[in-house]
Amino acid sequence: MTKKGDMLYAWTNDAEIQKKAELGGAVTSLWKYALESKAVDAVLVVTRGVDLYDAKPVLITDPKDLASTAGSLHCGTLLIPKLIKKYLDGARDMKIGVTVKGCDAMAFYELAKRKQINLDNIIMIGVNCGGSVSPVLARKMIADKFAVDPEKVHKEEIDKGQFIIEYEGGHKGISIDELEEAGYGRRTNCRRCKMKVPRQADLACGNWGVIGPRAGKATFVEVCSEKGANLMDGAIKKGILATEPANPKGLDIRGKVEGAMFKLGDKWRKKDFEGLGEGRDRLKKIMAETSRCIKCYQCIDQCPICYCVDCTTRNPAYVPPGELPVNFMFHLIRYAHIADSCVNCGQCEEVCPAEIPNTLFMHAQQVELEKMFGHVPGVNMELPLMAYVEEKTERERLHNTGSDMIYENVFNPFTKH
Ligand code: FAD
Ligand code: SF4
Ligand code: SF4
Ligand code: SF4
Ligand code: SF4
Repeated sequence: MTKKGDMLYAWTNDAEIQKKAELGGAVTSLWKYALESKAVDAVLVVTRGVDLYDAKPVLITDPKDLASTAGSLHCGTLLIPKLIKKYLDGARDMKIGVTVKGCDAMAFYELAKRKQINLDNIIMIGVNCGGSVSPVLARKMIADKFAVDPEKVHKEEIDKGQFIIEYEGGHKGISIDELEEAGYGRRTNCRRCKMKVPRQADLACGNWGVIGPRAGKATFVEVCSEKGANLMDGAIKKGILATEPANPKGLDIRGKVEGAMFKLGDKWRKKDFEGLGEGRDRLKKIMAETSRCIKCYQCIDQCPICYCVDCTTRNPAYVPPGELPVNFMFHLIRYAHIADSCVNCGQCEEVCPAEIPNTLFMHAQQVELEKMFGHVPGVNMELPLMAYVEEKTERERLHNTGSDMIYENVFNPFTKH
């Protein structure tokens, strides 16, 4: 019997899945079992689109279609939970299985807190995540640093700290550190990310810690919930999944790699946040950079924290329409509403046509708020700070005092001190 807390090596017995899978195919075979046993109505996973830089989401209902979705796409920077909110009614009446990276898992929790997703109907299989590479930058990096035509590349992988490509006529690997020093490599939010093993999913799967004869042929599975344990048990009984206890040395190595990734995340946070300056300097920098904004609303559309039907940024009383540069209030509204809950998923930066480092600005604020109030977004159902603002009490206070200064005695950058 599998139980919560188990640490296992797992691989599939399905030959078709095995062929396409990243590391033994445990994830895809678990989904196959989930569909066949009707544990879920559909599975939402990511698969290769027109080329390997094009990761596209697919909703699968026929288990026969699953094998083609196996494999990891490191240029797959998309975020899945908001698609479920937008197009699948937040899983209100449908049981859905989803493969998630850490940022997807965090976004699920934030949407669930806002009652936009029914987590009871979601099964999450998490994949450990060292980071993903923006598709546009990946093409440029392959041309410039690897001196290979990006169109000729048919496979990419990240292994032992290297980004490796296979192309017509050969293969090449360059260390991620070297690529990042040169301004390529993982997205900047991924470098700062510390959600490496997504334990808020039902299962957390990855290659870290798989050693010995199973290395490269099995996935390390940490069982994170009863739901996950039941899924594993069903697939094992059905004969589609095989497991063995993880090698204790492998478990140790996995812990050490995770620790090293945390340190790397801290290093990038320090570098990126210090680069922003402090206080007024930081504010000035943010105002200068955001002055390029053309108010296309894409950052709001993609953000998993933004879900409001009437967005305040569209209210002409706050943000005058038809003005360029866009009034800074547009960005202040976003900071005020999101900063306590930002999960550093990178979407608002990835989609910005003005190439504004929106994620960096929001993430820097989120980390400050976390230091002040201890609230960590995306890890559980604990409500965000903003949820504790009592609107009724606040209206009364406004009515009685006439003052809109909520935080008295707090440094206000807009007044002279
Ligand atoms: P498969 O059966 O091959 O199934 C893979 C599943 O991942 C499929 O459901 C597929 O749709 C989904 N998928 C593929 N690309 C994406 C994507 N971009 N976003 C969301 N879902 C996707 N493991 C580590 O231990 N260390 C790492 O540093 C690490 N980095 C990773 C980075 C990325 C971007 C991804 C996607 C995975 C990473 N993994 C990492 C996990 C590892 O590569 C395998 O996914 C995992 O071991 C499961 O292997 P499998 O053979 O069982 O999966
Ligand atoms: Fe992976 Fe974190 Fe980047 Fe998401 S933000 S793709 S979990 S490294
Ligand atoms: Fe402005 Fe960029 Fe957001 Fe568009 S995506 S509204 S340009 S910040
Ligand atoms: Fe993701 Fe940006 Fe929203 Fe933060 S503000 S959750 S990085 S889209
Ligand atoms: Fe809602 Fe604020 Fe996001 Fe607009 S910016 S959608 S009001 S959270």
